[in-house]
Amino acid sequence: MNRTYDVAVVGAGIVGLAHAAAAHARGLDVVVVDRAERPNGSTVRNFGHVGVSVQAGVAREHAERSRELLISYAQRVGFWLARRGTVIAATADDEMQVLRESGEGRLLSAREVGELTPVSGAVGGALLKDDMQVSPRELGPALAAWLQRDGVDIRWGVPALGAETGVLHTARGEIRAEAIVFCVGPDLDHVLPDVARRAGIERCGLDMLLAGGIGLEFPVLTGTSMLRYSAFRETPSYEALRTRMENERPDVIDLDVNQMYTEAPGLGLFVGDTHYVDRTLSPFQDERAFDLLIREAKRLFGLTGLAVLQRWQGVYAQGPGEFLEEQVSDGVFVSSVTTGIGMTTALGFGERVVEKITSHEGAR
Ligand SMILES: Cc1cc2nc3c(=O)[nH]c(=O)nc-3n(C[C@H](O)[C@H](O)[C@H](O)COP(=O)(O)OP(=O)(O)OC[C@H]3O[C@@H](n4cnc5c(N)ncnc54)[C@H](O)[C@@H]3O)c2cc1C
Repeated sequence: MNRTYDVAVVGAGIVGLAHAAAAHARGLDVVVVDRAERPNGSTVRNFGHVGVSVQAGVAREHAERSRELLISYAQRVGFWLARRGTVIAATADDEMQVLRESGEGRLLSAREVGELTPVSGAVGGALLKDDMQVSPRELGPALAAWLQRDGVDIRWGVPALGAETGVLHTARGEIRAEAIVFCVGPDLDHVLPDVARRAGIERCGLDMLLAGGIGLEFPVLTGTSMLRYSAFRETPSYEALRTRMENERPDVIDLDVNQMYTEAPGLGLFVGDTHYVDRTLSPFQDERAFDLLIREAKRLFGLTGLAVLQRWQGVYAQGPGEFLEEQVSDGVFVSSVTTGIGMTTALGFGERVVEKITSHEGAR
């Protein structure tokens, strides 16, 4: 009862686990609490796409470090990690132009795209060879279980209520720790509403589905992914591509679709996704979103049918920037990936934050 941990982490999603793993690797005594009984947030609801090459700036730095850490943890923990890369398929000349200008990956001819993927109608594409893929249903639970076996105190079913210097208040009693880090994803407003409001954190909801597998060996991104990811935003032809999509595909733009696909062994084909942002999300998922996702998947892969197995809503924290790092009070911190790139960047980001908060200037 009198134990004082070096670091208490709130939230056992990939961001919280990244902080716990980094603190544990530095030899610190770490406790993690999560209100759920097992990983249940966006960390298990995503594509498992580790899109290193589509990031720019700080996100790219975190993504590159995360890549190294994921490779190393995959060996030690034993989770599935595919290092084949991503195929980004261009189905129009302006998409090919954006790919050329981005300088990312090896450009592919239409024939090569067809050899690597079942995409029909591509005019070309690129192979982003540094990208990787994990199974989203496996990574979080496997990493949490491994950390627990390795000495991190992970407590499920423990909702955190708030914190002050040295003390984390939970619905199951107090936990003492030198540093307390909230990694609660979209639910920051439940524990630190003023911080969430000041930092402009909202919720981004996403519609996703899982269908029967089609033998997809590479994650597949499309022209809509070029509109979304930062590596393409600075290209000279980006705005022209956006304008063309707005004119030709208002349905895709209205639902803010990122048409992308991954296939994980034993699960099937992940098909997604749409985006809608609000502080409180509507719980009612629009069937038009699923109609569009199914229609576009069938069109891209030339399928006559798609056997849908599961549908769900994912929710991540959405902020004005890609990352939120804030010291709330002495020894109390908030850390969040505030756009949809946590599977790609969290391990590098968490390591960087832990370095800072356990260094002289961050420690209380
Ligand atoms: C549909 C979808 C697809 C995506 N695809 C990708 C992708 O392919 N590649 C990629 O890089 N990123 C992707 N992302 C983004 C990525 O999933 C997120 O950035 C990442 O999972 C965020 O992790 P997290 O730990 O912040 O959140 P979460 O996984 O939601 O974890 C937060 C945890 O905090 C816990 N918690 C909250 N409040 C409390 C409290 N008061 N007390 C205790 N515990 C609490 C919750 O129970 C939860 O376990 C996707 C996201 C979604 C939703």
